[in-house]
Amino acid sequence: MKKTFFLLTSIASLFFHCKTEPKTAPKPKLDVVVANIDSSVQPADDFFAFANGGWLKRNPIPASESNWGIGSIVQEDILEKVKKISKNAAAAQNPQGSNAQKIGDFWTTGMDSMGIQKAGLTPLKPELDKINAVKNIQDILNIVAQWHTANIETLFNVGVYQDLKNSDQYALYLSQGGLGLPDRDYYFGAKNDSIRAQYEKHIALILKLAGDSATLAPQHAASILKLETRLAKESRRLEALRDPQKNYNKLTIKGLQALTPTMVWSDLFKKMNLSADTVIVGQPEFFKAVETVLKNTPLEDWKNYLRWQLLMQLSDRLPNAFEEADFNFFDKVLSGKKAMKPRWKRVLAAQEKVLGDALGQLFVKNCFNDTAKQRYLTMTDNVMAAFAERIKSSEWMSAATKTKALQKLSKVVKKVGYPDKWKDFSTMTIDKSSYVGNTLNAGKWWYQYEISKLGKPVDRTEWDMTPQTYNAYYNPSNNEIVLPAAIFLIPGYQDTEIDDAVAYGYGGASTIGHEITHGFDDEGRQFDEKGNLKSWWTAIDEAQFKSKAQNLVHQFNDYVAVDTIHVRGEACLGENIADLGGVVLGFEAFKKTEQFHKNETIVGYTPEQRYFMGYALGWMTQARPEKLKMQIMTDVHAPAFLRVNGPFSNVLEFYNAFKVQPNHKMYRQGKDRVVIW
Ligand SMILES: [Zn+2]
Repeated sequence: MKKTFFLLTSIASLFFHCKTEPKTAPKPKLDVVVANIDSSVQPADDFFAFANGGWLKRNPIPASESNWGIGSIVQEDILEKVKKISKNAAAAQNPQGSNAQKIGDFWTTGMDSMGIQKAGLTPLKPELDKINAVKNIQDILNIVAQWHTANIETLFNVGVYQDLKNSDQYALYLSQGGLGLPDRDYYFGAKNDSIRAQYEKHIALILKLAGDSATLAPQHAASILKLETRLAKESRRLEALRDPQKNYNKLTIKGLQALTPTMVWSDLFKKMNLSADTVIVGQPEFFKAVETVLKNTPLEDWKNYLRWQLLMQLSDRLPNAFEEADFNFFDKVLSGKKAMKPRWKRVLAAQEKVLGDALGQLFVKNCFNDTAKQRYLTMTDNVMAAFAERIKSSEWMSAATKTKALQKLSKVVKKVGYPDKWKDFSTMTIDKSSYVGNTLNAGKWWYQYEISKLGKPVDRTEWDMTPQTYNAYYNPSNNEIVLPAAIFLIPGYQDTEIDDAVAYGYGGASTIGHEITHGFDDEGRQFDEKGNLKSWWTAIDEAQFKSKAQNLVHQFNDYVAVDTIHVRGEACLGENIADLGGVVLGFEAFKKTEQFHKNETIVGYTPEQRYFMGYALGWMTQARPEKLKMQIMTDVHAPAFLRVNGPFSNVLEFYNAFKVQPNHKMYRQGKDRVVIW
């Protein structure tokens, strides 16, 4: 193992430089925020366009992408590095079972397009044979159960997470699933007619590629769409899925059995390697619907549904024709992409899901040093201190609830940069035999990794995101914020080149403040300091909070995201509370820095102004209209421009910094400005 480690670190030291070294004499660097400005726009009319418009005009969305921005540039840089690592690992002699062997073999099978082409559907033959041999509905359910153990989630979803009401224990969760389209709403309404028609055609094409006749394929596709529509009908909408109480229904196995008499859960759980006395069912009505659909749908339709689900979920590991068809519907029709990404990027995206932690160990070595880690740890402390002050001086919250809120805040766990302990992939089987085989083996490993937690003590040190991910999260069960290293990177600049004003906007507000506020948004506030779903609010404070939150719902409902489609304020509420909190807390924390007190301008902008520009930099991204439409259907985040202009319109310090007057487009009357935290 030591040798592997040496090999990996030596590769890493060769290729993991976070910033490209200039080959010729460096040009004087442009200022990190001023460089992106569109000076034809008034900051008080559309701050997002002012701060980012110049860059966005110079950097149109590439054909292979549905959106493009600062996060894409960070990820592109990382991809180039991971490509070199993967290529080197594939060319080297690695000890069997080492991370390098797995990275190398996964890459080799993924890049072998000739081999994939030649193999056709052979790697899936055992699964397709099983479907052909189905004699009754129990056979269908057995296949569903067995596929779950390879992470092919069909008919419903299964998972093991901390019990929302007892964070010291893991629990088994069952939830709605089984659809091919990205959300249940696509199955209904005239506005989605065209997408549904194209989806049906796409299913038929895939089935034809898999051997169905030209006559049967469209008939099968129609029956599959009908089946999925019945499941969709009893699936909850995005807004409804955000209520933790209503999506928590703890049942005994007997209680679960009563919902779905046809599904013998004791038997299915055995096939899924699960052993549990209770299960938390997210949406009981969905499982009731599954029961009805199981009883009333011809067996042939089920067999076709299973074939479709298998081929759809693995299409990007199959021959070209499957992958292209999949691209043409899911990427082109749904998200507006014009061309497929090169193969190596598609393989690396798959590899990230399978072996992300192994790559992360290499990534952080040269990209996030101790100085940077310390800077963001201190910044986190400052943001938390600012939050404590805001709670104490809150005008609407009672002393009793304030005490509880401060207690919860003081218990927030900070995970910054990368985990102390990496996942151990030694028991995962990855070899040179086939891309599909590696995918299924990795799926089995990941399924086993997750479900083996049942009954064990909760591991609160775990990370659910790799350090090379341009993202962050708050986990209510651990009352923790998790901030991967990549989210603090600004392409083209070393961390030491970023002034505090920009860093507090970019990292302190849009990431740290945002994530901490999630612990106190409409969902997070329902969890206590130990991570349990348990109210700590007085009735009056709760009512006050809800009324303030409702104002934010109204504010965002009024915004148009694309064409005539409005933002869904209720679905985005948690994110919008977090954005607003992030802007306020980041600014309060920034006020403690030397730069704020010195108040010197840089390239013509005051520290306050640079703070808001730094925040906007975090959202410097643009999306195709198709992608925006999909976002409204499937995502709880508002479009990027509204994540800047929306919260800023409520913040007095922004009005002061950019002299916002009643005649400006971002102006909201004092009484309409939402203040929560
Ligand atoms: Zn968020």
